[in-house]
Amino acid sequence: MAAITFDDVTKTYGDGHRAVSDLNLDVKDGEFVVLVGPSGCGKTTALRMIAGLEEISDGQIRIGERVVNNLPPGARDIAMVFQNYALYPHMTVAENIGFALRMRKVPKAEAKRRIAETARIIGLLDHLDRKPGQLSGGQRQRVAMGRAIVREPQVFLMDEPLSNLDAKLRVQMRAEISRIQRQLAVTTVYVTHDQVEAMTMGDRVAVMRKGLLQQFDAPQRLYERPANLFVASFMGSPAMNVLEGSLERDGDALVCRIGSATLVLPPDVQQARPELASHVGKPVAVGIRPEAFDEAAGRNGDGGRLRGHVQAVEALGSELLVHFDLDAKPVLVEDVLEGLVDQEQAEELAELGIVADSSRATVVARLDASARVRPDEPIELAVDLRHLHFFDLASGEAVGA
Ligand code: ATP
Repeated sequence: MAAITFDDVTKTYGDGHRAVSDLNLDVKDGEFVVLVGPSGCGKTTALRMIAGLEEISDGQIRIGERVVNNLPPGARDIAMVFQNYALYPHMTVAENIGFALRMRKVPKAEAKRRIAETARIIGLLDHLDRKPGQLSGGQRQRVAMGRAIVREPQVFLMDEPLSNLDAKLRVQMRAEISRIQRQLAVTTVYVTHDQVEAMTMGDRVAVMRKGLLQQFDAPQRLYERPANLFVASFMGSPAMNVLEGSLERDGDALVCRIGSATLVLPPDVQQARPELASHVGKPVAVGIRPEAFDEAAGRNGDGGRLRGHVQAVEALGSELLVHFDLDAKPVLVEDVLEGLVDQEQAEELAELGIVADSSRATVVARLDASARVRPDEPIELAVDLRHLHFFDLASGEAVGA
């Protein structure tokens, strides 16, 4: 097992396109790291450079103590699992799992032991004699994992391994892969465009955009302390609401104005985030997660409310997603729009009759299922002022995070 280190790694393709720029990343021994970002952000290129399938233009990648820049893939002691795992249809599960061992002329007794051990880990001991055609989609995916596991590599590299599975199976397999990785404690780098997958699977998550690393942190920290507008709007579903606002002084208090509303920030927020003071008088982007709204003021006191008009209510059983409009301007900078890669979500909104309007913001609140809200009625919600996010409008960087 081994750590993986990227030192100022850049990849420029033959046509001059810079897919990865100055990437610095340290994946610890045994850690599960997810590379996530929208299509084209360079995550697959980064993974393929670890594997040796893509040349490194500049910088250095180390696996353990070894610089691998010039090592061929076969000498790197890694195993990859791809989206398109082609199993050999005429071979049994045992033969598929053991194929790499046969190629390497591993003695029969040892191969048998390793195949059995692998089958136990992936939960297919009873299916060793079946052919892939006799397996479910999830079981086939587990065989693909098994082929990587049986090689006992130093590193697993996975590129969107679940994207061909249906939604329910994806959820199951997410948990399954996490469990197997924890059990084996093999250093793993996992590529996905799906932020839910990233949040639920990674020990740490590296968010990329346009070849640049945006933030590398534990999932909860990415969610609670996004470094910039892009990460803020990319991580979380429904996405963070981002509105234009301003920070102002009102006597001793620091207030945030959003449209016609004034939110009074509690003194401890000012103390904990002194950087906010430097943005007094300046326009800022204010981020509010859907769950930071509530019908009644919570334990954080009533420092202000937002009023609007309900456009649509989605009842999800355990909770309501309430879309309402507000006399505030949405922040429609590229960082936010690009972070909202969830096309499905955009289509759903369109179906609900909600379209982007630059003069009025539509925000979404996650409320308890018992909340009494109806479409076309006014709504007034308390905001959890300790969980507001602020960003510099010009740079997109978080203020006082
Ligand atoms: P996706 O989720 O769509 O696979 P990604 O984040 O994995 O996206 P990469 O495949 O790493 O993105 O590609 C990063 C950028 O490099 C893209 O703009 C892509 O068009 C470009 N790219 C990839 N392969 C090549 C190549 N062989 N030659 C030139 N450009 C390439």
